[in-house]
Amino acid sequence: MTIFIGASLVALAVVLFILQPVVKGLHASLERDEFELTDTEARKRVALLALRDVEYDYLANKLDEQDYRSLKAELTAEALAALEADEQARGASGIEEDDLEAEIARIRAGLRQGCVCDACGFSNEVGSQFCSACGQAVTAEAVR
Ligand SMILES: [Zn+2]
Repeated sequence: MTIFIGASLVALAVVLFILQPVVKGLHASLERDEFELTDTEARKRVALLALRDVEYDYLANKLDEQDYRSLKAELTAEALAALEADEQARGASGIEEDDLEAEIARIRAGLRQGCVCDACGFSNEVGSQFCSACGQAVTAEAVR
């Protein structure tokens, strides 16, 4: 009987130890300290990066026109919502859709200026040393 109670206490202690961060809500504050990003900022970045990836995949012919359009519409809505939330979190008011379009245009221009691979024609990101598609070394001079 004594052994049983002892084992129960140990089990209880382990459970409490595991739950400790959850109970104290530590995960939220840790994240903020490490990256100094608010939730809305993080959401905005994720959405914009996803948009960039869609543009990238489309230019690399990994996406067909239809997928590109539906993905872009979806991600644009998400990015806009995130931008809006971010603006509100900072206390600013209103967000122009032009801001997002400008951001997308900037990303797309960057990709277009990228290093086109001599071997396979893949359009790599600006400053790429090697082709993302075939691994060949690419030189910036090859494009310009
Ligand atoms: Zn290549």
